[in-house]
Amino acid sequence: MALRKLVAGNWKMNGSLAALAELDAIAAAASDNLDIAICPPATLIAAAAARQPTLPIGAQDCHWNASGAHTGCLSVNMLREAGAQLVIVGHSERRTDNHETDAEVKAKATAAIAGGLIAIVCVGETEAQRDAGQAVAVVTSQLRGSVPEAGTGESLVIAYEPVWAIGTGRTPTIADVADMHAAIRKCLSELLGNEGAKVRILYGGSVKPSNAAELLHIPDVDGALVGGASLKATDFVPIIDAAK
Ligand code: PEP
Repeated sequence: MALRKLVAGNWKMNGSLAALAELDAIAAAASDNLDIAICPPATLIAAAAARQPTLPIGAQDCHWNASGAHTGCLSVNMLREAGAQLVIVGHSERRTDNHETDAEVKAKATAAIAGGLIAIVCVGETEAQRDAGQAVAVVTSQLRGSVPEAGTGESLVIAYEPVWAIGTGRTPTIADVADMHAAIRKCLSELLGNEGAKVRILYGGSVKPSNAAELLHIPDVDGALVGGASLKATDFVPIIDAAK
């Protein structure tokens, strides 16, 4: 089943009020047959949503609690009030830098969905795990631990991001991406029943204008999560166009 593609940009800890000018050309690349989103730093969500009200804006993390003694954290309602419609959870940089566990990622995704945000749950193996032949086992284990039972085709997106491909310019082979996305689809069907076939599975890791078309046309690749190449409209718009 061909799902409507989603091309989402993850600005990570990059960007400024001045950088929001990039959103004008990105919003202008919108098309009826796909979804686009940009996830800027949380401090820019409100300004981004105000600048381009038709462009879905997302956050890069959330807390699972609605409020409380969690200094520096942001709840789903706070993000929604700022203008976010989506949130990335379990990015490998957070799993590494902040020691986030599958259970925490699941709690965040569950809270996001309950609060009306689309949750983009990230999974992916390290290079050592791939070299040891464990890539599929690692990713399916992350899915079993992080996918919320409440996930549906509308509320949940999975991003397969091999850790060794993020920001390195390296990508897996087309066959390896196809095998992994097929394994993820099978696992989602086991976890979510019929709904598993409707959940979009994005590929992420060094997507750029020169490789977007071939990556985006692999079966079960329902879009892309793009880091570095989402910062400039001149890079990101050709990736959006490749998904059309
Ligand atoms: C990411 O970190 O989500 C990502 C895909 O980064 P990049 O495109 O820069 O590899």
